[in-house]
Amino acid sequence: DDELNGKVALITGGASGIGQALALAYARAGAHSVVSYFPGDDHDVQRTVDGVESEGARCVALPADVRSTDDCEALAQAAVDEFGRLDIVVAAAGILRRNSLTDMTDQAWTDMLDVDLNGVHRVFRSAADRMSNGGAMVATSSIAGGVYGWEDHAHYAAAKSGVLGLCRSLAVELAPRGIRVNAVVPGLIESPQSLDGENSLGMAGLEAAGRLIPWGRVGTVDEAARTIRFLTSADSAYITGQELVVDGGLTIR
Ligand code: NAD
Repeated sequence: DDELNGKVALITGGASGIGQALALAYARAGAHSVVSYFPGDDHDVQRTVDGVESEGARCVALPADVRSTDDCEALAQAAVDEFGRLDIVVAAAGILRRNSLTDMTDQAWTDMLDVDLNGVHRVFRSAADRMSNGGAMVATSSIAGGVYGWEDHAHYAAAKSGVLGLCRSLAVELAPRGIRVNAVVPGLIESPQSLDGENSLGMAGLEAAGRLIPWGRVGTVDEAARTIRFLTSADSAYITGQELVVDGGLTIR
């Protein structure tokens, strides 16, 4: 995969799940990465760093809260300082919460939007001016932001839907600078978010959900990561402003 060799990717949420699988996928292609982890929550990020380095690529890990403009600026600057370039940006940090409309306080609503939507905007804005050779950006939306209605997740759906509009708009705005912007739209992927979190389904829930999916199971983080990798590689060189659903057929049945 010569074309990704030597490139530099910035990945938020790179300490776990899809972001971690992606850093490893880039490393196998010879691309280096700057990964962020949630401040104070560094117990998994070493796995990313060790995994990348065992493939012979370099990985810089930094704490960054995507709710902070300063943290996002520092993250993008780290790519320039450490590697002298920035080619790929993937906004994979995100939270999942369950709140019915009755207990959807202003705070619950705002907190969700601040991470899952505003966080994408902050990272893309910080990165764009540092991508001097063109490049590619990918945000992680969700089928809940597309065609799949999900009770008790109005805030999550609104944020993930907002991500799609943000990507389309930036795709047009950044085209003259040679930067492509696309969204990946995962269905149900087995990751810390869907498996272990306080609002997650657990293994039994994932297996039950898998039986409703045409493919017969939920997706893996590696399957989601490879889709993102495609959207940042030369194989998708003429694709911008698009949404790519990776859901094993969940939303087409
Ligand atoms: P994950 O929980 O492993 O990854 C999310 C990461 O974001 C975590 O490492 C977490 O520490 C980080 N994070 C949370 N809040 C943050 C903040 N304020 N600042 C910085 N980092 C923060 O889960 P994942 O499944 O790998 O999720 C990756 C992305 O994919 C998320 O945006 C998620 O919403 C989206 N997604 C996941 C699924 C799924 O089924 N797993 C489905 C659709 C969309």
